Amino acid sequence: MRKLSGFEPRKLYTFFEDITQIPRGSYHEAGIADYLCAFAEKRGLRFVRDRVDNVVIFKNATCETQAEPVILQGHVDMVCEKLPEIVHDFQHDPIELVVEGKWIRANGTTLGADNGVAVAMMLALLDDEQAVHPPLECVFTVCEETGLEGVLSLDTSILSGRTLINLDDGPEFSAVASSAGSVRIDCTRIAKYESVQGSALAVRIGGLRG
Ligand SMILES: [Zn+2]
Repeated sequence: MRKLSGFEPRKLYTFFEDITQIPRGSYHEAGIADYLCAFAEKRGLRFVRDRVDNVVIFKNATCETQAEPVILQGHVDMVCEKLPEIVHDFQHDPIELVVEGKWIRANGTTLGADNGVAVAMMLALLDDEQAVHPPLECVFTVCEETGLEGVLSLDTSILSGRTLINLDDGPEFSAVASSAGSVRIDCTRIAKYESVQGSALAVRIGGLRG
C-alpha cells in the first residue's frame, strides 16, 4: 500500500517513495545504483555506472529547436540518524514513512529528502514523455554527505553540457546556478545608473573550473 499516492506531482512522489525503500547511506549505494540502472535500461536510456556507483543517465532532447545539453545533479546517499529508542538498521531496513496532513516524515529516523527529492525529480523528468526539454545529463552521485567523494571521482569527460543545475539546495523555489563545491559567496553591490553615449560592450567569462 503506497503512502504517498495522494501527493502531487504524482510521479515525483512515486519515485521518492520507491527510493525511501532502498537503504542508501554513504558507502552503501549499490542498491540505489542498481535501481537507477534498471530504470534507465527499462526505458532504453543510455547510462553509465562507475566504479564507486555514481550513475549518469542521458536522455535526448524532446524540444524541436537545437539546444545545448543541461546537466542535472543530485546525490543518492542520505544522512542516517535515528532516535535512540528506534530500532532501525540503515543498511537493510526501508524508511518507514509517516504522512501527517500535507507533511511527510519518517518514523524516528531521517527521511532522506536530502537529496532524495533531487533523485525523484530527475527520475520523474526522465520518465515523462510529454516534458519538453533539451538533452539531459542526469548525474546521481554517491558519498556527498561524507565529503563530496562521489562527485570528486566522477569522470566528467562523459558529460558534454556546460550548464549545470544542482538540485541539492534550499530553500524551495530557489535554484543554484553553480556547483563549485561547498563554498558559498554572496556578492552585492549597490548599482548607480547613468546615461551613456557610445557603444556597449558585452563581457563574458567562461571556461573556468567552478
Ligand atoms: Zn544534500
